[in-house]
Amino acid sequence: MPYAGTREERLRKQREYWNKNKDVLNQKQRKYWNKNKDILNRKQREYWNKNKDKLNKQRREKRKTDNGYTINRQRTYYRENKDRVNVRRKGYREINRDKINKQLMARYYKDHKKSLEYKQEYTKKWREKLRLQIIEHYSEGKNRCELCGETDIDVLTIDHIGGGGHQHRKKVGGHIDWILVSQNFPEGYRILCMNCQMIEKKRKNQYKPPNRINFTQTVSMLSQLGYVFKENLRFIIKLR
Ligand SMILES: [Zn+2]
Repeated sequence: MPYAGTREERLRKQREYWNKNKDVLNQKQRKYWNKNKDILNRKQREYWNKNKDKLNKQRREKRKTDNGYTINRQRTYYRENKDRVNVRRKGYREINRDKINKQLMARYYKDHKKSLEYKQEYTKKWREKLRLQIIEHYSEGKNRCELCGETDIDVLTIDHIGGGGHQHRKKVGGHIDWILVSQNFPEGYRILCMNCQMIEKKRKNQYKPPNRINFTQTVSMLSQLGYVFKENLRFIIKLR
C-alpha cells in the first residue's frame, strides 16, 4: 500500500524509524553486506565507472550548495576515526602506488604551468602593492619625486638617503620593498624619480657604469693562449 502524504512527511517518518531501530538495522545491513560483499562491490564499481562524470559533477554541485555540510561531515569523520582512516589510506597507497604516482605526475604537468603563471602574477601584484604603500608613506601621500616633483608612479623609486642602498640590501638580504614594510618604514629613505636618483648618484660619484667585456683585453688574452684571428676578428681559430 503506497504511503499517503508529502515527501517531507515520508522522509521524516523514515528518519524516525531509522533512529529508533538504528542498531538492528545497522547490524542487518552489515550482515547483508558481508554476505554479498563481492557482488555488491563489483556492482558499485561498475556503476561508478559507468557514471563517473555524472556522479562527480553531482558531488561537486552538492558540495557547493550545502553550506559546508559535506566537508564538515568528512572532517568530523576523519577526526573521530583518524587511526582507522590512516591505516586504510596507507594500505591503499601501497597497493596503488604506481597508479597514484602516474595520476600525480599527470596532474602536475597539466596544472603546474598554470599555477606557476598564477604565482608569478600574484607576486607581481603583491610587490606592486608594497611599492605603492612605500611611495605613499615616504612621500607623505603626495606620491611624487622629492626633488623635481615628477608624479609618474612608474618612474618613482625608493632612494636610500646618503646612498649605500645596495650595501644595505646585501647586508639585510631580501627585497627592499619587503624589508621596508616588514620593518614598519624605517627612517632614512625618500622617493625620487629615476632621473633624479641617477643625477644624485653621479653628483656623489657613486655611479659606476656596469661592467662590460673589454674587447681589446679579451683579444690579447686569447692571442696569448694561442688563438688566431681571421677576417676582422669574425672567426677564432685555435692553432694547435
Ligand atoms: Zn625627480
